[in-house]
Amino acid sequence: WSSRDFPWTKNLELNNKRVFGNHSFRPNQREIINATMSGCDVFVLMPTGGGKSLTYQLPALICAGITLVISPLVSLIQDQIMNLLQANIHAASLSAGMDWTQQLDILRELSSENSKYRLLYVTPEKVANYHPAETLLFLDCRSDSLLRHLESLNSHSLLARFVIDEAHCVSQWGHDFRPDYQGLGILKKKFPKIPMLALTATATASVKEDVVQALGLVNTVVFRQSFNRPNLWYSVVPKTNKCLEDIDQFIKKNHFDECGIIYCLSKMDCEKVTETLRKFGHKAAFYHGSMDPGKRAFVQKKWSKDEINIICATVAFGMGINKPDVRFVIHHSLPKSIEGYYQECGRAGRDGQRSSCVLYYCYSDYIRVKHMISQGGPGQSTMTTGYNRIASSGRTLESNTDNLLRMVSYCENEVDCRRFLQLVHLGEIFDSTNCKNTCDNCSSSKTLIEKDVTLIGRQLVELVKLTGERFSSAHIVELYRGSLNQTVKKHGHETLHLHGAGKHLSKSEASRILHYLVTKDILTEYVKKSDLYGSVSSLLKVNRSKAASILSGGQTIEMRFPSAVKVVKPSKHGP
Ligand code: ADP
Ligand code: ZN
Repeated sequence: WSSRDFPWTKNLELNNKRVFGNHSFRPNQREIINATMSGCDVFVLMPTGGGKSLTYQLPALICAGITLVISPLVSLIQDQIMNLLQANIHAASLSAGMDWTQQLDILRELSSENSKYRLLYVTPEKVANYHPAETLLFLDCRSDSLLRHLESLNSHSLLARFVIDEAHCVSQWGHDFRPDYQGLGILKKKFPKIPMLALTATATASVKEDVVQALGLVNTVVFRQSFNRPNLWYSVVPKTNKCLEDIDQFIKKNHFDECGIIYCLSKMDCEKVTETLRKFGHKAAFYHGSMDPGKRAFVQKKWSKDEINIICATVAFGMGINKPDVRFVIHHSLPKSIEGYYQECGRAGRDGQRSSCVLYYCYSDYIRVKHMISQGGPGQSTMTTGYNRIASSGRTLESNTDNLLRMVSYCENEVDCRRFLQLVHLGEIFDSTNCKNTCDNCSSSKTLIEKDVTLIGRQLVELVKLTGERFSSAHIVELYRGSLNQTVKKHGHETLHLHGAGKHLSKSEASRILHYLVTKDILTEYVKKSDLYGSVSSLLKVNRSKAASILSGGQTIEMRFPSAVKVVKPSKHGP
């Protein structure tokens, strides 16, 4: 797709410079544009700040017909339309909040022969017939009406392409599931010949599969690039009762008068942290789901205009943050999953400049978050309807807890590169020599010692096999360390000869070794959906060919440990 001789190549380069003011294309941009303009369905996985918008805005400019963009939030749409207008490109939008006659005017203008609009942005409920007909007949006829207009545009060959922005919202496995997105499959059903371009910054393979299926993409061309964000510096810091003083000092020393986000667990934490930071002289404000929308918009605006430096927020403050110069993202407490953590950190440094991501960790926060999850999800800290729904019904409590335990082992890992640990979770193998000391573990001066963990590795593989390859890594670790928790007892796993064989290991050591086996492809994680509720969980199975040499003793496994840790004297049990 990078070949230069497409009929539109010259036009493309010209407009990229002239209209968008870019000197060149960023990685994959040209290829994506060529693929979608050739009429293919395209799926793009690109990290935040990578330049996804250009891949459909530039084609919209030079192709005949309208580009329909589905975007989840009105604020995101307004942002995009404003940017486009600055480049003198006209775009319209439709959303549920708009007056119906105003919407009709726009639709009429779009169908007129010399319409000035190149793009039409809509929120998903304009398309999806998600609402049960009996409750929302009225809305249904409105979304029908958009589809009817699309049909008429299409019959005049005036429908250029469909763009699904934040496409991960289709998937329950993603962190931002929105029920309305699931109805978008209707576009491909009604207009099979119109190319579709799906864009997301969420990288997991299971999300991708879900999205491709739900949207009905055909012979999809997939573009995926490394999700490493080289300008973000990661560290994990022990959280003490002087945490807020630490945060104050950290900001004053490293990011004086710069902009940042502090993620807090609850709305009360947000307000408390804000109050303390103000006392220390910072321009801080809080933002959470229980505030009314007007107040939230007000705070966000002040922050965008640099009238406030620091926002103390729950995860409700997320998607739709387009501020390019966020210089730090601090986690005042434990994030709920590595994927969520990656996304939240991703809001820093969109302009490519060096930015800090600091996570304050203590074990008691794990207990707090776990409790919140068991109460039916982190409801009080989010404002998106989709997330709440999924927290209480879709995802199981178990898989939420697994995600959280992964986060704990990330925090307790004092050895491996942070980038490596995050990216492995997103399905990408990152060579940690490329970290170049930009994370705390890589730049640590701690002495590390190679230790032989072959026997432990073998026992863990055996355990996965013995339990029928249908349990999560968290369960295998519990079992190996001799836990007698409910799940262990329910399945009679306390009777297995390897139950407790790893009781000399700490939880974080055991899970680090287990996850190492995953990164070496000896164990494989797979996603299992339960048919009943559509819930998903991540389970382990053995990769027979890779595991053979471990089990037969033909291959040894060595890992590095901090020299103070005694670790790996395997116990007498053994296969
Ligand atoms: P994403 O949606 O992937 O997070 P955006 O489309 O918002 O990223 O782009 C991020 C920033 O990069 C924007 O400020 C945009 O103007 C800029 N950008 C995109 N493509 C290019 C390019 N080819 N050259 C220079 N800047 C670019
Ligand atoms: Zn590193």
